[in-house]
Amino acid sequence: MTWDELIRVTPELDAWLRETRRYLHMHPELSLQETNTARLVAGHLRELGIEHRTGLGGDGRPLFMSAEALRAAGIQPGPTTGGHGVLAIIRGERGPGRTVLLRADMDALPIDEQNEVPYRSTRPGVMHACGHDAHTTILLGVAELLNSLRDRFAGTVKLMFQPAEEGPGGAAAMIADGILEDPPVDAAFALHVDSTHRAGEVAVSPGPATAAADTFRIVVRGVGGHAAKPQTTVDPIVVAAQIVVALQTLVSRETNPLESAVVTVGKFHAGTATNIIPDHAVLEGTVRTYSPAVRDHLEQRIAELASGIARAMRAEAETVYLRGYPAMYNDPTLTALARQVATELLGSERVYDREPLMAGEDFAFVAQHVPVCMISLGVANPERGIVYPPHHPRFDLDEDALAVGVRLLTAIALRYLGAV
Ligand SMILES: [Zn+2]
Ligand SMILES: [Zn+2]
Repeated sequence: MTWDELIRVTPELDAWLRETRRYLHMHPELSLQETNTARLVAGHLRELGIEHRTGLGGDGRPLFMSAEALRAAGIQPGPTTGGHGVLAIIRGERGPGRTVLLRADMDALPIDEQNEVPYRSTRPGVMHACGHDAHTTILLGVAELLNSLRDRFAGTVKLMFQPAEEGPGGAAAMIADGILEDPPVDAAFALHVDSTHRAGEVAVSPGPATAAADTFRIVVRGVGGHAAKPQTTVDPIVVAAQIVVALQTLVSRETNPLESAVVTVGKFHAGTATNIIPDHAVLEGTVRTYSPAVRDHLEQRIAELASGIARAMRAEAETVYLRGYPAMYNDPTLTALARQVATELLGSERVYDREPLMAGEDFAFVAQHVPVCMISLGVANPERGIVYPPHHPRFDLDEDALAVGVRLLTAIALRYLGAV
């Protein structure tokens, strides 16, 4: 039996996918606020008669950053995932076997959409600019197909619809709610839309996939005073400027050139007037790494450099370092399986190598427990002007990619469970 005979996205299902993606695109919800999206997902699973659990990843549990760490960084703590996670469970009728998890994220971004399309976001300042509307839609399509193919496989498929990927770490909260247990998950796959490839193409590679994404905040305290009497002050702006320059050496002089790392100071705030030397300055930035040793080293050295330079210049520096999403690696065996299935479905000329990203991704929390593989799903269509990257106000996707994603994830699950 060929894939085309086994996995058919009918014209009706294809139309439903396009319509559902457009509905979600028009009604985007920010991280922690995915109430309506979660309701749509659960409602459709109920219609399909698929076993599922709702309200996951909530109940006031703090997210992966402790409330204490958030407060120390000047961030108001208290966000939770709001319990909008949904887990569907499809049990094969050929008996017990392995358990594979497929994941989609559901949240949108605080961006004002600039596309003039009939399905433009109806919510000012909120937009599905990372393609999570497509991820959610695709996984619902996969649910329908795998549910109709239950007599074909042994084992279990879990479908994870997660909230709050864009920062708060909704995946971690759902894991804390036990979604990887009962039955225990053996492997996990996810798709992410990718504008560097056309609809109908995919990219997947083993090894480094997304980076660890941390943030830091340095408060430099000096002594304020009159701008014309610097000798009576300790100028925190000059101290902070030295720290910014010194931080550049952490990657260039202290990190193995064969390792990847980024240290970026994205914010530098100080002062109120030209004739005043302020009493403090604040630096904030992000650190991206793959190697845990490089991550540990940078965390330690940012604080040491800041306080050492401040002390040498008669000031004080206090550093808060917040660990964000961990780095994620695609498992070689799962990647080989995904690549093989993609090649069978799409032809080898449409399957590309995927470049590691320095962006973070909270599927990395799943990767801390089970082997994972994240696949890039091409969504670009240059002839139609669909070329902008995720997180851009003109990001869009070619909806032909929806059926591709559905077939790919369905086929990967069936192959992993040994059905084909
Ligand atoms: Zn994103
Ligand atoms: Zn995303």
